[in-house]
Amino acid sequence: MSQDPTDVDVLVVGGGQAGLAAGYYLRRAKLDSAILDASTVPGGAWQHYWDTLRLFSPAAYSSLPGRPMPHQAGQTYPDAAHVVGYLAEYEKRYELPVHRPVQVRTVENSDGDGLLVRTDSGSWRARALIMATGTWSRPFIPALPGRGSFAGRQVHTRGYRTAADFTGQRVVVVGGGNSGAQIAADLAGHAAAVRWTTLRPPRFLPDEIDGRALFEIATRRVTGDGPRISDLGDIVAVPPVREARDAGRLTAHPMFERMEPDAVVGEDGERWPCDAIIWCTGFRPALGPLTGLGLRGGGGRIPTDGTRALADARIHLLGYGDWTGPASATLIGVGRTARTAVNEIAGLLR
Ligand code: FAD
Repeated sequence: MSQDPTDVDVLVVGGGQAGLAAGYYLRRAKLDSAILDASTVPGGAWQHYWDTLRLFSPAAYSSLPGRPMPHQAGQTYPDAAHVVGYLAEYEKRYELPVHRPVQVRTVENSDGDGLLVRTDSGSWRARALIMATGTWSRPFIPALPGRGSFAGRQVHTRGYRTAADFTGQRVVVVGGGNSGAQIAADLAGHAAAVRWTTLRPPRFLPDEIDGRALFEIATRRVTGDGPRISDLGDIVAVPPVREARDAGRLTAHPMFERMEPDAVVGEDGERWPCDAIIWCTGFRPALGPLTGLGLRGGGGRIPTDGTRALADARIHLLGYGDWTGPASATLIGVGRTARTAVNEIAGLLR
């Protein structure tokens, strides 16, 4: 016998940094809400990052609304475990109504003007919904001729934990973003050889630009002032990346065009024998549960005005990158878009 859905005003899907920032403002707005998170423990994607990853910014510039991130002893740039601890403490401190593990499967229109949300453990009915599912659960690897024939090991950024797992191996790292640069730098000294391959020549941001400066640039862009971050570069020159680059250990090669069982092969036919490939080729927004609502536009993406889905004012997308608000995929930046989303929802429900 199926149970009646649980009713709330606003349902947040995802309990990472974006979901918690939404929870903070929903609480302040005194809206009846719940946060459904598929993870068994707090921390969102931060619980899965590799051991040497450090934040782009000092703790004071990596805070969610209301509660500054404490300094991590001995570290200017905190590690991922410190962020997990901070997020766990944050949801406890504000008594955010997080339910986990709860996997949201589908969102549908319910009778009346509500939304029916089906999960792996019961259903919910809400008057508005904030998607804050991040991208971690949807890794992207490009299709390449011969990929299936490669006999060595292939992992995506998602599966990378420590350089020691690749000791003595010849490793190809694919991707010209932050993950690719950081992992290629991390492997030097462990792997027997590292070949970093990128689609375009890598673009390092000026060394003085860290997460704090990026946030300031993004903030100026809100008023249409100053350059876009993408005009300045793609890769934050965090200390390990800078050191590897300056020591000549971080040289990029053009992307290969096909794979063989024991090698990658370039456009010019050059073969580079290798034991492992690490795909730092990004992620896609985890918005599968919304499919049935038909919100997507021509380009496959859900068109938004800020965080609000153009086709349905009850639905907001939070934390997916500049597309859903400048710097919204950062700890320091997501608060601003969360506040706007909650204000809009409060206006709608009033
Ligand atoms: P997530 O942290 O992924 O949380 C989403 C949550 O939603 C997860 O708990 C997941 O289980 C849950 N979920 C997903 N689908 C469902 C579903 N169907 N039902 C229920 N729950 C669901 N940001 C910074 O601010 N500073 C940095 O220095 C920084 N460095 C980074 C370095 C790297 C290499 C990378 C990859 C990212 C970095 N980021 C940094 C970005 C930041 O880590 C992410 O943008 C951030 O974790 C996204 O937060 P989120 O809450 O949107 O998503």
